[in-house]
Amino acid sequence: MITRRLFCGCLAGGLSFAATAAHAQSTECAVFTPDRQKTITPDGAVARLKAGNERFTAGKSVNCNLMEQVKQTAKDQSPFAAIVGCIDSRVPPELVFDQRIGDVFCARVAGNIANTDIIGSLEYSTKVVGAKAIVVLGHNSCGAIKAAVDNVKLGNITALLTHFKPALATLTKADGHLDSHNYPLVQKVAEANARLTAASLTKRSPIIKALVDAKQLTIVAAMHDITTGKVSWLA
Ligand SMILES: [Zn+2]
Repeated sequence: MITRRLFCGCLAGGLSFAATAAHAQSTECAVFTPDRQKTITPDGAVARLKAGNERFTAGKSVNCNLMEQVKQTAKDQSPFAAIVGCIDSRVPPELVFDQRIGDVFCARVAGNIANTDIIGSLEYSTKVVGAKAIVVLGHNSCGAIKAAVDNVKLGNITALLTHFKPALATLTKADGHLDSHNYPLVQKVAEANARLTAASLTKRSPIIKALVDAKQLTIVAAMHDITTGKVSWLA
């Protein structure tokens, strides 16, 4: 009897899990059309990314038919969000947010900074194509942030590192020695950089500011932990 009850319980649990997985697959694998994009609010766009990272960290990323999505998005794209991320190989935005073909714009540059080209790309993503949220995604142990902390001079990297001056300016004596081996200091600069980059977008782009003022767009900063895969959302 016990055996039978356990067996039935396991079977029911298995069916339930299969049903949940099938539901996730049917909703997550549907590509974003202009009409579907219109149904997403700015907060809803961020919520989708949060849910995606929870699936990713739980090892439950949805397995979609990507070639089917390629076919369905061939004529047009209507992504619901845009992400500014680092080039770091351990932080691919589509994977850590469990997104697929046609879901999100990704602008990647060392240290997730926003220069004129990145901001122009975000204006295209939002004003022209209609993305509802911009996420500036930093991460711990970022090589670009470490290089800025160590004041590295090397080729074109020297010019790139000037973008981190505002984040470095948030440091005080209490943060300790300016050295890339000082993990809390590097983390503080990385978080400040993500926040400042996010805040700079409305200051440097009247187009983005107008969308935010009209509540058609939200901008958030977040940090990815390369040791856990988890994304933390900065206030
Ligand atoms: Zn990085």
